[in-house]
Amino acid sequence: MSARASLGIDPEELASCVACGLCLPHCPTFRVTGEEWASPRGRISAMRQVQDQGAAIDQAFLSSMDTCVQCRGCEPACPSGVPFGSMMEATQAELARRRRVDWRQWGFRVLGHPWLLNLFSRGLAVGQRLRLVPSRRLGLPKIPLRQHRLRVSGDDVWLFTGCVMDAWQRSTHAAVKRVVEAAGAGVALPGAAAGCCGALSLHAGLEGHSRALAVRTMRALEGSAPILVDSAGCGAVLKEYGKHLGTPAAVAFSKRVMDVHEWLAARADRLPSALEGGQDLTIAVHDPCHLRHVQRAHQPVTEVLTPFATVVALDDDGLCCGAGGAYAAMQPELAAAIRERKLEAIRRSGADIVASANPGCTIHLANAGVAVRHPLEIVDEMVDYDH
Ligand code: SF4
Ligand code: SF4
Repeated sequence: MSARASLGIDPEELASCVACGLCLPHCPTFRVTGEEWASPRGRISAMRQVQDQGAAIDQAFLSSMDTCVQCRGCEPACPSGVPFGSMMEATQAELARRRRVDWRQWGFRVLGHPWLLNLFSRGLAVGQRLRLVPSRRLGLPKIPLRQHRLRVSGDDVWLFTGCVMDAWQRSTHAAVKRVVEAAGAGVALPGAAAGCCGALSLHAGLEGHSRALAVRTMRALEGSAPILVDSAGCGAVLKEYGKHLGTPAAVAFSKRVMDVHEWLAARADRLPSALEGGQDLTIAVHDPCHLRHVQRAHQPVTEVLTPFATVVALDDDGLCCGAGGAYAAMQPELAAAIRERKLEAIRRSGADIVASANPGCTIHLANAGVAVRHPLEIVDEMVDYDH
C-alpha cells in the first residue's frame, strides 16, 4: 500500500500535539520498544507527514499505526488534551478503505450475527475438547460446550450482554446479574437483538459496520432505563455512540450507559454482607484501559470489592496489559512483551487473585497463568445471599 492520502483527521486535532513527549512513559509500545515510531508522539508525527506533507503510506507507516494497542493511555497523560483515540480511529478507517484483503472485515462481520457466532463458538468448543484447536497459541479461553440461559427479572436496568463475552463467558453475565439483583434491581436483557457493540470494528477502521451495529444496539436497548455494562471495552464504545453517530438519539443513549461498578458503587449499602472468612482474600485490581483512560471510571471497581476483601492497587500507573481487543492475536509478540510488565506488577502486589472488568484482559492474563476473574464474579462468590 503506497499512495498519497489524506487521513481524514480533523486538522485542529492533528495540530494540537506540541511534541512535548510527556505521554511517552504512559505508552505500552514505547515502554517495550523504546522506539519513537512506537510512541504517541511518533505516531502523530507520522500522521502529519502523510496528511499535511503528502508522504506515502508505506510499510513503516503501517507498522507504526498497527502496533498501537489503542489503549488511549496517552490521552490522560497529555497536557494539551490531544484526542489521540479519534485520530487513530480516522487513520484506521482510511487504512481499512485502502486494504483490499483484510480478514477482519469478514471475521468481525460474524460478531454481528449472534447465531453464527454461537455456531462458530460451539464448533471451537468441540475442537478444543478433541485437541484440534491450538488454544494456547491462539490465546483462546476454554469455551463452554453449552450455554446457560439468562432470564429477565424485571425492567429497572438493562444488562448489555454483547457478542464474544456472551458466547464465551456467559457465566460472568450470570454472576453480574445475581449481584445487580441482590442490590434490588430487576434486570432486562437484550438477547440476540443487540449483539456486538461495534468496538472491534471501530478500532479496525470498519466505520460503516461499527455504525450499523451501533444503530442496532440502540434499537434493542430502548426506553429510559440505565444500561449496565460489564465489559470495559464495550462500555467505552457505548458511551461514545453520541460522538460517533452525532445524533440526538445517540447522545441520549450514551448518557444512559454506566459501567456496572459505577452503578453498584452508588448502591453498595444495598448489597448483602460478605460470607464469614471472605475478607482473608487479597485482590489486585487490574484497570482495563477502556475503563481507566477512556471511561475514567476505574475507581468504583475498588469501591465495590473493598467490603469483601483486601484490595491492593498495582504499582504500574495503569499501564495496558497488551490484550487490546484483537491486538493479542494480531501482534502476539508485542502483546506478550507488554503483558510481561503487567505480570511483574502482579507478582510485586503479592495478591491471591487479580480482578479485571474486561473480558479481553482476563483472557490475556489467564493465558499467562494468572488467577484472574471479573470483579463481580468474585463478589458473587463472596456475598452471603441468605442474609
Ligand atoms: S500527544 Fe500530548 S503529551 Fe504526547 S507529545 Fe503530543 S502534546 Fe505531548
Ligand atoms: S493508544 Fe496506547 S499504544 Fe497507542 S500511542 Fe496511545 S498509549 Fe501508545
